[in-house]
Amino acid sequence: MSESFAAFLYLVSGVLFILALRGLSHPTTSRRGNVYGMVGMGIAILTTLALTTPSAGGIGLIIIGIAAGGGVGAYVARRIPMTAMPQLVAAFHSLVGLAAVLVAAAALYAPTSFGIGEIGDIHAQALIEMSIGVAIGAITFTGSIIAFLKLDGRMSGKPILLPMRHAVNAGIGIAIVVLVAVLVVSESTFVFWLIVILSLLLGVLIIIPIGGADMPVVVSMLNSYSGWAAAGIGFTVGNLALIITGALVGSSGAILSYIMCKGMNRSFISVILGGFGGETAAAGDDDMDRSVKLGSAEDAAFLMQNASKVIIVPGYGMAVAQAQHALRELADLLKENDVEVKYAIHPVAGRMPGHMNVLLAEANVPYDEVFELEDINSEFAQADVAYVIGANDVTNPAARDDPSSPIYGMPILDVDKAKTCLFVKRSLGSGYAGIDNTLFYKDGTMMLLGDAKKMTEDIVKSID
Ligand code: NDP
Repeated sequence: MSESFAAFLYLVSGVLFILALRGLSHPTTSRRGNVYGMVGMGIAILTTLALTTPSAGGIGLIIIGIAAGGGVGAYVARRIPMTAMPQLVAAFHSLVGLAAVLVAAAALYAPTSFGIGEIGDIHAQALIEMSIGVAIGAITFTGSIIAFLKLDGRMSGKPILLPMRHAVNAGIGIAIVVLVAVLVVSESTFVFWLIVILSLLLGVLIIIPIGGADMPVVVSMLNSYSGWAAAGIGFTVGNLALIITGALVGSSGAILSYIMCKGMNRSFISVILGGFGGETAAAGDDDMDRSVKLGSAEDAAFLMQNASKVIIVPGYGMAVAQAQHALRELADLLKENDVEVKYAIHPVAGRMPGHMNVLLAEANVPYDEVFELEDINSEFAQADVAYVIGANDVTNPAARDDPSSPIYGMPILDVDKAKTCLFVKRSLGSGYAGIDNTLFYKDGTMMLLGDAKKMTEDIVKSID
């Protein structure tokens, strides 16, 4: 295959990746977006194979690699529950980082295979690209492993704040930059591995001080890093498709991080510097009356049936309980009773961006009933009932009212402004950020303690 035809096919796959990203931005077009992405990737892989014409043994290895990787990927993707998606994504990012390190090492030890010179005489430009790619890759590798451990609950979500951590991180960062320069001049494999070791260490040190509530931003930040690592390696191996895809992943991850920071009213720099949202102690007013009003499914059915407007606020617990279908049934019944029903989605509800939208779409909830925070928040004051199902942090008024709270400043859904706030969860325990929610103890709140699906089904049964 000629180089120019290959470049054309890479361009086609690049356009398909852009269409994929566009498609994935809305539930109605997301399936199509996925198909575009798969076709684009198929074209990119076949073009690369046609361009490189590997030996028969090489082809065999590639087929084994694709079959093993594709098989494991398909198996894991089918088995993984939606609630474990963030840790899966973090684990996958770590593999992208590791791949970047291994490809860079291969290029250093066998430069002729990559067309970047000979041992002892590798082109300076290739050495720069390789060392930047390997540094970002190694940071992504260990950073993603720590993020995986935290998100999976195998490591505490609390920030680990080492003394002088900013100075230490800055020192390591500067050392890596200096070593990159030394590597370009000396081509020393020792310096290369020193860059790898320091970058692996930096990856750990950057992520351990980041607390639970900032994890959404960290996941998309690592997504961005993995894209840049791939783009760096694309330069080393001279593969246009890898450069385009890496840049797309890198920039879309960066944009997503920015959007999430905005959604949580946090600056990106303060997230990276870490230490937010790991408190497990109860926040709020210790003198307040901590009695709660408990209710039953029948009480909830009565209140909702007699309401004129109900706003449903889904959260992580709805995903755990898989209550979306029961919820849709409840909404349908209420609508039959002339109750206006809307859904309010917080930008970080659940455990991944768009988590709630995906679940509601799965239950065929009409898109025009689903609203983003800024579009619906003013309506809680006119609502008779806010039905909070498995959400917690995204409703916590401490974020709005208590400057000493670690989540102060994060926008929340103003469910406490509704006449009655029905809270479905299993206990009075805290949410992901580990912060007590004073809303449970407010006058207008009724706690419906139980599993989200079971409680919603019981309410449906109680509505006549
Ligand atoms: P929270 O994690 O704050 O609260 C979820 C609540 O659901 C828990 O308090 C839990 O209470 C309840 N719950 C769990 N299982 C069930 C069940 N089977 N039935 C009923 N209730 C249940 O969720 P939110 O959606 O309000 O907030 C999301 C949090 O996750 C934020 O802190 C956000 O920063 C973070 N996050 C978000 C990501 C994203 O990209 N969206 C990624 C990573 C983290 P109980 O145990 O008492 O039942």
